[in-house]
Amino acid sequence: MNFNRVVIKVGSALVSPDNNGCSGKYIQAIARFVTKCRQENKEVILVSSGSVAAGRHLIQHGSPIPSIPTKQAMASVGQMKMMANWQRFFDVPCSQLLITHGDLKDRERYINIKNTLRILLANGIIPVVNENDTVATEELKVGDNDNLAALVALISEADCLIILSDIDGVYDKDPKINDDAEMLCEISEITDAIYAMAGTTNNPIATGGMKTKIQAAEKAVENGIETYILNGTNSQVFDKILLGENPGTHFLANKEVSRAKKHWLKHILKSHGQLLLDNGAVNAVKNNGASLLPSGIISINGDFVAGESLDIIDANTKVIIAKGICQYNHQDLFRIKGENSEKIQSILGFCPSKVIVHRDDMVIL
Ligand code: GLU
Repeated sequence: MNFNRVVIKVGSALVSPDNNGCSGKYIQAIARFVTKCRQENKEVILVSSGSVAAGRHLIQHGSPIPSIPTKQAMASVGQMKMMANWQRFFDVPCSQLLITHGDLKDRERYINIKNTLRILLANGIIPVVNENDTVATEELKVGDNDNLAALVALISEADCLIILSDIDGVYDKDPKINDDAEMLCEISEITDAIYAMAGTTNNPIATGGMKTKIQAAEKAVENGIETYILNGTNSQVFDKILLGENPGTHFLANKEVSRAKKHWLKHILKSHGQLLLDNGAVNAVKNNGASLLPSGIISINGDFVAGESLDIIDANTKVIIAKGICQYNHQDLFRIKGENSEKIQSILGFCPSKVIVHRDDMVIL
């Protein structure tokens, strides 16, 4: 398997296999796999379910299907247990990110999440993401961690998504009731027929089932991210992946995507303002593949918030040379334009990013 940045989604059934607190039973082998990936200089982000399952035995509940507030309380206490369970298998620090769909829809929060992940990875930390179950009402919820993992893969610009659960992959029929069910090793197109094969989950503590895994795969492959559904209860699966074999179902990524992303930045995203650059910055952006720093910005037009798209203009020729997503709002940018990045903190009192437009968020025109 050839990837540089992977999002690994770990289902509740692996974190809390007995539905009674956390266990290292499966997590240990998953953590060993994460460590091996990191030793090969791959970046890893975990999306871990299991907070509700891990906290279930600590909150009194009469019914087998607890109410939403009861589940939220379980998630609150279980999240600590789940994080501690992960951390005990790593020598490097883990960090916790709790996010909701509401956060992903909001431009500023989206860019904050993106920056946080970027910095955590650059510092060798293992980010562990979960839905913020305590605050997530229906409208705010992603609802299942399969789809959340796909969104995290998009936001972090991962090139691979691995969804681990207690099933081997996608079967053409339900393998529990059909002896002749066959696993699909490679799926090049996610059609209605694939969804029809997915059925629903039998596991009472799992939220997602196969349907949400396929939805997640669809989101990821559309965005050029190779996606795998693998059985995390079988440690041999990880040995095989490391040998470059595919022990589960592989959804093939759409290869046209980097073009699509550029198209989106160039044609779809509306520009909310302009940044005019000096010669040095024009050269760095156009010819050296650099991100845009505050020092090269001569002037700013427009009333924009962080996360909005701007035209990047050569101040001499007035030609638009690039388009990109800005890390700062126009008021803050006005105060730091022309300055060295090192001064951002002292001028603004905070420094979410040393670059104004990151290279990954820019298209050269
Ligand atoms: N956020 C939930 C939890 O941690 C899990 C949701 C899911 O597994 O899809 O328990």
